[in-house]
Amino acid sequence: MSEPRVVYLTGGAQGIGLGIAEHLLARGDCVALTDIDDAALAECRERLGHAERLLAMVSDVRDEARVAESLEATVARFGRLDGVIHNAGLADPFQGLVESLDLATWQAYLDTNLTGAMLCAKHAVPHLRASHGAMVLMASTRALQSEPDTEAYAASKGSVVALTHALAVSLGPEIRVNAISPGWIEVGDWQKAAHRAPVEHREIDRDQHPVGRVGRPEDIAAMAAFLLSDQAGFITGQNLVVDGGMTRRMIYAE
Ligand code: NAD
Repeated sequence: MSEPRVVYLTGGAQGIGLGIAEHLLARGDCVALTDIDDAALAECRERLGHAERLLAMVSDVRDEARVAESLEATVARFGRLDGVIHNAGLADPFQGLVESLDLATWQAYLDTNLTGAMLCAKHAVPHLRASHGAMVLMASTRALQSEPDTEAYAASKGSVVALTHALAVSLGPEIRVNAISPGWIEVGDWQKAAHRAPVEHREIDRDQHPVGRVGRPEDIAAMAAFLLSDQAGFITGQNLVVDGGMTRRMIYAE
């Protein structure tokens, strides 16, 4: 993979995606990011700067034609494609009681979190084959463990982990594919202005993480950048948990 890289990133206008975009631009990469939120896109263009290496587009990961068009626009602008990060997601894990979970809600989670990943992969593959590139799909520690009333989110993220190893086996050796499972990442201060919230964590929130703090978008950005790099050349089909050790801590009720 050549440096600097050309990276296509979904859901890049806010939250973890915005953190990833900032990190990649700071290391000199070209970033083509998509989002469905117009206001957030306008604000992120301002915040990120680097207009010569940034393409920020409206595109919905559920819309196959737009996914294909935005990938083509990326290659037209920057000349190639080295990496894809499917980060866009319905990120609220709670859908309510399973006995009243409506089919439209279930479907919405699968469409954005899972089908969006498949559509990005489908249309990026010819370009990534040419560059011997890599793909990163955003899963969640909720693919591995649950709180009550999170069936749609958990199932969508568990499926992302399965899609990751299926793609890695199908697309190797030219293309590597890995998932990241973030734990609790604080994104309240990485939203568009109208939704930005002051962030406060309790001691108990910090203490349940062996590293002593809640996660930040930069923590996930660093892992995504590594997985796209040649340094990760022997890693594919994996689900990398980035959670400050939260899921390693054994908890007994008092
Ligand atoms: P966020 O809501 O802050 O950001 C998500 C972005 O994706 C938004 O800008 C939104 O407009 C965009 N988006 C939503 N639907 C889209 C679509 N159909 N097409 C294109 N863009 C779309 O969420 P976040 O917390 O930054 O989460 C990002 C990813 O990380 C998600 O996949 C989420 O499930 C995963 N994740 C987050 C956490 C966490 O603690 N924040 C933990 C585990 C996994």
